[in-house]
Amino acid sequence: MSRSIRTSMLELRGLTSANTSAKPAPERMNQLKSLIREIEDYPKPGIRFYDITTLLKHPSGLRAVIDALRVHFAGNGIDRVVGIEARGFIFAPAVAYALSAGFVPMRKPKKLPAPVERVEYALEYGTDAVEVHRDSIEPGQNVLIVDDVLATGGTAAAAAKLVEKLGGHVAGLSFVIELDALKGRDKLPGYDVQTLLRY
Ligand code: AMP
Repeated sequence: MSRSIRTSMLELRGLTSANTSAKPAPERMNQLKSLIREIEDYPKPGIRFYDITTLLKHPSGLRAVIDALRVHFAGNGIDRVVGIEARGFIFAPAVAYALSAGFVPMRKPKKLPAPVERVEYALEYGTDAVEVHRDSIEPGQNVLIVDDVLATGGTAAAAAKLVEKLGGHVAGLSFVIELDALKGRDKLPGYDVQTLLRY
C-alpha cells in the first residue's frame, strides 16, 4: 500500500462519523482526491481520466463519498435517484438506499426492454442519447440525478431534460468529480448542482 493511501485511510476514519447528517468539511473531501487515480492519455491522447476504482475499493473512502452525496439532498423528499450509465450505476443505488428513495437506471439506447422516452444530445462528432423506462418516474416526483464525473455537461443536461419529459421535478444533480475547465455547470443553469471534488 502506498504511503499516501495509508495516510488517507487514517485521516478518513474521522470522516464517516455516526452523525451523517452533518456536512463533510471541504478539507476532508479533498483528502478523497488522494484516493482517485489520474491516468494520462486515456482513453485517447490529451485526456486525463479520473479513475474512481481506487476510491471504490477503499472502505471508508466509499462510505464517505456516499454519505457526502446524500447529505445535501436529505430531507428534500427525493422519490427517485437516477443513475446515468455506466458509472452513475455505481453510486446512485447506494444514494437511493440512503435517502429511502427508488433507483432508476438511465441507459444508452436500446438497452431497456419496456417502452422508453429518449433525449438525444450532441457530441464532439455526432450525437448520443439517453433512455429511461416511461413508467420509471411519475409526474410531480422529486428526482435526484447522480453520476461520477461532470465533464462537458452534455450527458447531465440530457438526463435532466429526460426526467422533465416524464413530468418529474429535477431536485438536483450530484457528482463525485467536476472538471472545472470544461464548464459543464454552464449547461445546467437553474439546477441545484452539487459536486464533491473539483479539478
Ligand atoms: P460529459 O457529457 O462530457 O459531461 O461526460 C460525462 C460522462 O463522461 C461521465 O459520465 C463520465 O463518466 C465520463 N467522463 C468524461 N470525462 C471523463 C474523465 N476525464 N475521466 C473520467 N470520466 C470521464
